[in-house]
Amino acid sequence: MKAIKDHGIEMIDIRMTDMPGMWQHISYPAQTFSQDSIDEGLGFDGSSIRGFKVINESDMLLVPDPATAFIDPFMGHKTLVMIADVKDPVTKEFYSRDPRGVAKKAEAYLKSTGIGDTAYFGPEAEFFVFDNVQYGTGQHYSSYSVDSAEGHWNTNRNEGPNLGYKIRPKEGYFPCPPNDTLHDLRAEMALTMIQIGLTVECQHHEVATAGQCEIDMKFDALLAMADHQMKYKYVVKNVARKYGKTATFMPKPLYGDNGSGMHCHMSIWKDGKPLFADATGYAGLSQLCKWYIGGLLRHAPALLAFAAPTTNSYRRLVPGYEAPVNLAWSLRNRSAACRIPMYSDSPKAKRVEFRCPDPSCNPYLAFAAMLMAGLDGIRNKIDPGEPVDKNIYDLPPEEAAEIKQVPGSLDAALAALEADHEFLLEGDVFTSDLIQTYIDYKRASEVDPIRLRPHPYEFFLYYDL
Ligand code: GLU
Ligand code: MG
Ligand code: MG
Repeated sequence: MKAIKDHGIEMIDIRMTDMPGMWQHISYPAQTFSQDSIDEGLGFDGSSIRGFKVINESDMLLVPDPATAFIDPFMGHKTLVMIADVKDPVTKEFYSRDPRGVAKKAEAYLKSTGIGDTAYFGPEAEFFVFDNVQYGTGQHYSSYSVDSAEGHWNTNRNEGPNLGYKIRPKEGYFPCPPNDTLHDLRAEMALTMIQIGLTVECQHHEVATAGQCEIDMKFDALLAMADHQMKYKYVVKNVARKYGKTATFMPKPLYGDNGSGMHCHMSIWKDGKPLFADATGYAGLSQLCKWYIGGLLRHAPALLAFAAPTTNSYRRLVPGYEAPVNLAWSLRNRSAACRIPMYSDSPKAKRVEFRCPDPSCNPYLAFAAMLMAGLDGIRNKIDPGEPVDKNIYDLPPEEAAEIKQVPGSLDAALAALEADHEFLLEGDVFTSDLIQTYIDYKRASEVDPIRLRPHPYEFFLYYDL
């Protein structure tokens, strides 16, 4: 309340995340906002929020978390934003389908196991920036009708053939300007993130054709990091919009080019000490870390229903684009689902990088699910098997056949989640109700609508048959 006064705040904007992972918001003029609003919560109608309650029990409370406050850099009036938890006004309990509540319960569950007290997450979200042009006049969006090497690149721009100079495809990573035309845009994104309280480590162009970017934040504890990830996407999209561009976190917007991942670096700590390091172990890893990897790999198919949660995610998880396909682990190897980064020998830097997730996920649900899978690995001493230190893409077929693969579709990941979710129910972190609601939502709103529509490429393949 003091900050609201000191900063001359005019509006208070309260945000929550729906099940698919989008921020929703409701604003209150500062004069109607009081300490009671924070202590008791603010009423809202939850019935239209995706994944929330049905219409007859739709009254909900938003309880703002002042630790998440920041001054919005994009809104016209001076606006203080707070992320809220969702409560049931009758029972006064935190709502079991609120994704942020799941992340909180996952942190509490970690403590209750006695294994550790803090799970650190470092997600590396990649995204594409496209020109925000209107299609429908002049050149048309041509990715499906043209199957030549040239055709793919035209999706990025509404332009004709290369009669003048334009950057050649796949040469964005990562020469200096003028080749890197997005440097200043990413710099503004990174500096805006810092302005609202995030810690940014670096920003760079990514490997896909001109337009793919990455901005990396410093790791933080699970819940805080999921909050940061929501702020991160908000800043990226709004800075892009400010310059007449558009940013997308969909994992595979361009056929034939690298997709956007959100590799997650993870480590568990207790009493300020890292538990994943052991100088005598393979790659400097402790037994505990290997079991954590065992849990991630064992439950990966189910886990991906949350971590790679869109039909588009499975167009990214294919061979040849630095995205993982094989459920294996390895030192440094980018073709494995779990990689052990070797940039530093420091025990504090020991971590596992899980490469399957992509930035279309709801970070609260995805991080919580990853932690639960890893903890299940530790509790049941799940052996991850031998590390694979070769390029898995190049293995002879007999050897490759022994390595399990990621699910091939969202449908398959949802089936895996249906069959394997006991590990998520521990400590009531996820409820059966939430899991079933999630599966039903994804099938009815995403899998089926895609499955039922004739695909544009089917016209290329079949029209003339
Ligand atoms: N874009 C790649 C992916 O889809 C990752 C590239 C990298 O290693 O940073 O996961
Ligand atoms: Mg990257
Ligand atoms: Mg990475």
